[in-house]
Amino acid sequence: MATKDDCIFCKIANHQIESDYVYEDDLVCAFRDMNPQAPVHVLVVPKDHYDNLVDDVPAETLAALAHGVDEVAKRTGIRESGFRVIANTGDAAGQTVHHLHLHVLGGEGLGEGLL
Ligand code: 5GP
Ligand code: ZN
Repeated sequence: MATKDDCIFCKIANHQIESDYVYEDDLVCAFRDMNPQAPVHVLVVPKDHYDNLVDDVPAETLAALAHGVDEVAKRTGIRESGFRVIANTGDAAGQTVHHLHLHVLGGEGLGEGLL
């Protein structure tokens, strides 16, 4: 795995630090956000380190991320009710952890989106 020594999500994705995992396969894993903004708030991340969505992410990894979102939606019971996926990308979007991650948000009281 291509990891970065000082990256918290590399450590979580590769079990150097344990977290509250919802799903995992060879390429991605998903774990609950430590500061949830909705009843369901899970982060889906690649096991390899990419800074964000525009960091030359292989198609296979992008497909695995999409599959990971679907698995999270199924496992947390929000697939039928609907949910939101957000990828903060770069400084203007307020990305704070510079390891690609998709926020999956769902559950009662999610409200309308920004767009
Ligand atoms: P960003 O603003 O970069 O899109 O969001 C980063 C997210 O990662 C935040 O929602 C924050 O709560 C979450 N986060 C940061 N560090 C950790 C951690 O060590 N464990 C978990 N589970 N979530 C984290
Ligand atoms: Zn990383």
